Amino acid sequence: MDMTDFLTTLQDAFFDWLVHGLGGFSGWQIVTYTLVTTHITIAAVTIFLHRSQAHRSVELRPLASHFFRCWLWLSTSIVTREWVAVHRKHHAACDTPEDPHSPQTRGIAVVLLRGSELYAAAAKDSQMLDQYGAGTPNDWLERKLYTPHSLYGVGLMLAIDLLAFGAIGATVWAVQMLWIPVSAAGIVNGIGHWWGYRNFELADASRNIVPWGILIGGEELHNNHHTYPTSAKLSVRRYEFDLGWAYIRVLEMLGLATVRRGHPQLRLGSARRGRWRMRPC
Ligand SMILES: [Zn+2]
Ligand SMILES: [Zn+2]
Repeated sequence: MDMTDFLTTLQDAFFDWLVHGLGGFSGWQIVTYTLVTTHITIAAVTIFLHRSQAHRSVELRPLASHFFRCWLWLSTSIVTREWVAVHRKHHAACDTPEDPHSPQTRGIAVVLLRGSELYAAAAKDSQMLDQYGAGTPNDWLERKLYTPHSLYGVGLMLAIDLLAFGAIGATVWAVQMLWIPVSAAGIVNGIGHWWGYRNFELADASRNIVPWGILIGGEELHNNHHTYPTSAKLSVRRYEFDLGWAYIRVLEMLGLATVRRGHPQLRLGSARRGRWRMRPC
């Protein structure tokens, strides 16, 4: 093969990769991959970051927590200690000027469209990180990789998407990267304190966005969560559904998780007469 043939073959291979990627996947397969991976990211945020790390309502075995940590590194670049600290401060100063991302004080448009910027600005406060970030992972992986090189993971994900899918992999990656800023930083932090229904009258403005917590893994039930922040289960009414809780129950059955706290229970009368759940208003 002479040089011209070699360059032509190389050019053909390059354009073939650009159009089909190395996997030659169909459009539907690429859409399915994108939806599955973004859903795993949602599950990692609600189960690992929120319920397990920030509120300690679920204890995860090392296999489960390492999986979630690695996945969040690949798909979000979130540093666990920073996320946990910002979120705990949100609960401590809910809907006051000190709240890092309240639509009541900053405006709904700002939280919806610039939620990630608010989070990033809050995460720069080292005093706040010391005060609210205790108890998060501090092992070798955290100190040497996940925290100092938080952007390497999303870079690796970009390489995987481009290799597998070709040029369209850049779009897949963009959707993966936008999923948490839009759904969690924008919708839960914004709409969850601005619009929806309330089961409980609290001092803060938290609301349940919809009764079926599927798309954002149960985080839609934000008024329930602010009422019982340490409960691993976010649904309280019979018609409400919390997908994150369903996943936690599966992890528990597999021996990968232990539920530490649920909703408080009010016992009335003798044990024989049964026990009564606290009812939402
Ligand atoms: Zn909130
Ligand atoms: Zn919370």
